[in-house]
Amino acid sequence: MSSLTGQPLGIAAPILGIVGRRAPGRGQGRTWVYPVRSPADLARVTRPRVRRRPAALLAGPEVDSCALNGIPTVTGLPAEGLAALHDGDIVQIEPSGRVIVFYEKGSPHNCIFATNRCNCLCVMCPQPPGPDPEGLWEQNLRLIDLMDPEEVTCLAITGGEPTLLGERLVELIRLCRQKVPRAHLTLLTNARQFKNFEFAKAVVQAGYPALLLEVPLFADNDTEHDRVMGAGGAFWDTIQGLHNLALLSQPVGLRTVLSALTVPRLPQYAEFVYRNLPFVMQVAFMGMETTGLAEQNLDRVWIDPYDYRETLAAAVRRLTRRMVPVSIYNHPLCVLTPDTRQLARNSITTWKQSYPPVCEPCSKRSECGGVFGTGVKISAHLQPL
Ligand code: SF4
Repeated sequence: MSSLTGQPLGIAAPILGIVGRRAPGRGQGRTWVYPVRSPADLARVTRPRVRRRPAALLAGPEVDSCALNGIPTVTGLPAEGLAALHDGDIVQIEPSGRVIVFYEKGSPHNCIFATNRCNCLCVMCPQPPGPDPEGLWEQNLRLIDLMDPEEVTCLAITGGEPTLLGERLVELIRLCRQKVPRAHLTLLTNARQFKNFEFAKAVVQAGYPALLLEVPLFADNDTEHDRVMGAGGAFWDTIQGLHNLALLSQPVGLRTVLSALTVPRLPQYAEFVYRNLPFVMQVAFMGMETTGLAEQNLDRVWIDPYDYRETLAAAVRRLTRRMVPVSIYNHPLCVLTPDTRQLARNSITTWKQSYPPVCEPCSKRSECGGVFGTGVKISAHLQPL
């Protein structure tokens, strides 16, 4: 999630609210956060007899604290960060002065972080697991409540491992279906818990017909998969979970992150998926974000995408020729073979997306997803097309 940091004035507790130049509709109970981009903006909400005041202000460094009329404010926010906030975004303002964008209006990458906890420890996890902060569940309920049911058309539930919430995950999915009924939901899960058929059934029923599950599978065998996942038994749990989901006719996609550990058996991986998991809706080959544990384990996991482009193309061909849909996520077009570029998706979350200077003259820039600006390593073979 993107965030901004400024100086807090009068913020005693976290404030979760909707950014807007006008007070949000649908009742007066929806917390309103007002962006102050000019002195005139400030006057609009602080003058006497104004009908409704915002719960908090977000302002640049020029705001006069004497004019705030006691409204909690984060001041000193960078102008470009403030300008990037849209009306309809949902932000959490923390007493420290950090402003976290929990929901970005119009973005296809919005998600609910169900938990930080995980039952695996993937060697390249960009966001290592940990304990949940106090009040995370209530915060998520409030976040869903603030979402505009007309506007939200896609939403991911992610973690950590969301299935560790157990029955609460079923409740969370039901709530999403009820509050944002137009949203296509994607649950990112390692599917280990779905080896319990009854639990799988409860999740599938709660999400029907708007739920898609995206499941990481890193190898065609337990030794390699469990090594990447950092958890013994993960492979067979996931395979059993996937078959339970298939029995329930639940749409499922597979994801595999390409690293020095997973690339060598990519052809066998493609063959395994075709032979054993023919019901999957899609196989996504994902580029690695070299942050978090991937950064710590860089010497074990890093491989330049340019160096595996032919292996990837062979795996893709093996699947697509057998009518298994394939997508390639998080890869710049220029490191892919020409025949696989059409499968590349612009999948990097907007605020993480970066185009190094070498991209400037590239004729494909508008079609290319660029690279992770959050990683410590990118391909050494970027070149304008
Ligand atoms: S040069 Fe940049 S914009 Fe062009 S394909 Fe490569 S990464 Fe994408």
